[in-house]
Amino acid sequence: MKNHVIYQASTMIALLSGLYDGSVTFGKLKEYGDFGIGTFHQLDGEMIAFDGIFYHLYPDGSARQVGLEESTPFSTVTFFERDQTLRVHTPLTRSGLEQVLNTLLPSQNIFHAVRIDGHFREVHTRTVPHQDKPYKPFVEVTENQPSFHFSNEDGVIAGFWMPAFAQGIGVSGYHLHYINDARNGGGHVLDFIVEHCTISICSSEDFRLKLPHNDGYLKADLSTASLDDDIAAAEGSR
Ligand code: ZN
Repeated sequence: MKNHVIYQASTMIALLSGLYDGSVTFGKLKEYGDFGIGTFHQLDGEMIAFDGIFYHLYPDGSARQVGLEESTPFSTVTFFERDQTLRVHTPLTRSGLEQVLNTLLPSQNIFHAVRIDGHFREVHTRTVPHQDKPYKPFVEVTENQPSFHFSNEDGVIAGFWMPAFAQGIGVSGYHLHYINDARNGGGHVLDFIVEHCTISICSSEDFRLKLPHNDGYLKADLSTASLDDDIAAAEGSR
């Protein structure tokens, strides 16, 4: 395992608390990685990046490349290098694929970037919509989020697996985003069936956290309870 640093702007608990102001530009974020996931200033969609290209997945289901001047309230990136690769020739659901991934992760106590290049029978995604101040809590936003179905197309899933102890800083377990090969649609992954795929894993023992420097963040009360329930509701995992 090489020394891959994972760099993250802000925390999941801050996002859940409605802190949607961008604190890091994508120009800056690109200095810390060529691969990752996140969201945008005032939410306004989901981000996925790989091979050095950052995509903005809009709440209408479309996608475009991210401008360097755009900013993010929450993103996780790394310079992705394949530590492990596995080709899978049988169809897998999301939970089936996660079981395969679980057997590949060298440890449950470090961080892993995960990439899946495959042909998808179905992908179900959601994309958070643009928010104006005063911001609603994230769980309320995701109750009315646009969701999308993609079928019979090639695409890429990118994301991270984080340990249980990282819940709140990030999302414990898998957090995955999708974009299709046409690069015109995708979102935060809720579920999928992949016909065949290549799984790549990049593991890291090095996590760098950049907390926002703005009044909203510095004065927020982040001592919220019900973290697990809120994250499960927000991530669509329950
Ligand atoms: Zn997401």
